[in-house]
Amino acid sequence: MKVLKFGGTSVGSAERMKNLVALIRSNEPKIVVLSAMSGTTNALVEISNALYAKENNKAKTLIDSLEKKYESVLKELYSKESSMNKGKELVKNHFEFIRSFTLDMFTANEEKAILAQGELLSTAIEHFYLEEIGIDSVLLPALNFMRIDKNDEPDMKYIEENLKAELKKHSGKNLFITQGYICRNAFGETDNLKRGGSDYTATIIGAALSAEEIQIWTDIDGMHNNDPRIVEKTFPVTELSFDEAAELAYFGAKILHPTCVLPAQKRKVPVRLLNTMQPQAKGTVITDKIQTDRITAVAAKDGIIAIKIKSARMLLAYGFLRNVFEIFERYKTPIDMITTSEVAVSVTIDNDKNLDSIIKELQEFCTVEIDKDQTIVCVVGNFSADKLGYASRILDSLKNIPIRMISYGGSENNISVLVDSKYKKDALISLNKGLFGL
Ligand code: ADP
Ligand code: ASP
Ligand code: MG
Repeated sequence: MKVLKFGGTSVGSAERMKNLVALIRSNEPKIVVLSAMSGTTNALVEISNALYAKENNKAKTLIDSLEKKYESVLKELYSKESSMNKGKELVKNHFEFIRSFTLDMFTANEEKAILAQGELLSTAIEHFYLEEIGIDSVLLPALNFMRIDKNDEPDMKYIEENLKAELKKHSGKNLFITQGYICRNAFGETDNLKRGGSDYTATIIGAALSAEEIQIWTDIDGMHNNDPRIVEKTFPVTELSFDEAAELAYFGAKILHPTCVLPAQKRKVPVRLLNTMQPQAKGTVITDKIQTDRITAVAAKDGIIAIKIKSARMLLAYGFLRNVFEIFERYKTPIDMITTSEVAVSVTIDNDKNLDSIIKELQEFCTVEIDKDQTIVCVVGNFSADKLGYASRILDSLKNIPIRMISYGGSENNISVLVDSKYKKDALISLNKGLFGL
C-alpha cells in the first residue's frame, strides 16, 4: 500500500482535479489523502472569525462567495448530468450546514466543524469525478478512524484498528480517497490536526499501515535548502534523513506540517516529496539513511517569544532549572531553545496562550524580561562534534545580523540562532551566501 497526499494547490481548481487522475490511476493499492482546495480553509477561518465577532452579515457574504466558487468548479469539472446533480446536492448540503452557524451561538467547537468542510468537499468532488470517468474508488470517511487523544496526539492504536476495519469493508478495492487534516478528538467531536495537517494525516495513515511509501505531492519539487518564499536562489535537497526533515519541518519549512515526520520515522516508512506540476522531477526522499558531515538546509520559525529569567539565587544552586521547567510543563507550553549562564537562563516559546500566568509564577523567584516578535533561524545538517568549522561558518555568515541567542550541541542536526523578526530575511539570505555560495 502507498499513501499519496495532495495539497491545496494540487486540488485547487477543476483542471487540477482532472490532472490528478494521471497520478493516481495505476492499479497498485493506494490511499489518496486530499487537502481542501487552496484558499478554502483560509476562507473558512475568515467566516469563523466573522461569526465570533457576531458580524453575521459579513459571514453570510463570505459564505455566498465561497459557495459560488464551488459552483463554478462543478460546472468546469463535470460533463455528465448525473455527476453534476450529485455535486450540486453535495455543495448545497455543506453550505447549508455552514450557514446554519449564522443562526446560533458560535464557539471553538462550531469553528472546528466549519473548518472540516473544505476536506469533506474536495474529497467528495474528486470521488464523483473519478466515478464519472469510470475509475472505481472508495471514499473513506476520515472521521471514522482518525482520532487524537486528550493531549492532541494521534491515538495510533485506535487509528490502526479502525482504519484497518474500514479498509476490510472494501476488500478487492485498490483506490481509496480520504480527507486530510480532519479528525475526532478524545470526546468524539470533529477536530483537526492544525493548519497544514493533511501531511500529518498521510504520515499517520502510512505508519498505521506500515505502508511501502508516503508521497507528499505539492507545488514545489521537494524540500529546498532554504525558504523559497524569501530567498531567491534555492535548490531541492534530494535526500534527507528523518531527523533532518523533522527539524526542518518543526522549525518552519512549510512544505511539511511541523510534526508529520514523526509517525513515518517511528515505522521507518520512506516519505517522498513530489511536485504535482512537474511529476517527473526527482523531489526529496526522506529515509533513515544518514549522510554525515554536511550542512543540509536552513529554515525559520516566526512568532517566537524569548523569556530571560534572571536570579542571583541561580548562582551555584541546583534545582533552579527544575523549578523553571515545571512552570512551563504545568502550562503545557513547550520550550524550543534554551541558553544558560551562571545567573540567567533564556528560553523561547511559540505559544503565548499562558504567557501572563507563566510570567507571574516565574516572577515569584526571579526577574523576567520578555522579547516578542523573534524568529528562530535553524541550520540543519549533520554536525558531528569532532568536525571543525560548522559553528564558525554559520556565525561568520551572520556577522552583520544582531543575534539574541545561539543554541549549538543540543543535537547533531541543528544549530539555531534567535534574531529579531525584522532581521529574518537578511539572515536567510546571508546564510544562503555563506553556507551554499548562492
Ligand atoms: P500544500 O498546500 O501542498 O500542503 P504548502 O503551501 O503547505 O503546500 O507547502 C508548499 C510550500 O512550502 C511551497 O510552495 C514553498 O513556498 C513553501 N516552503 C517553505 N519552505 C520550504 C522549503 N524549505 N522547501 C520547499 N518549500 C518550502
Ligand atoms: N486544509 C488545511 C489547511 O489549509 C490542511 C492542509 O491543507 O494541509 O491548513
Ligand atoms: Mg501544506
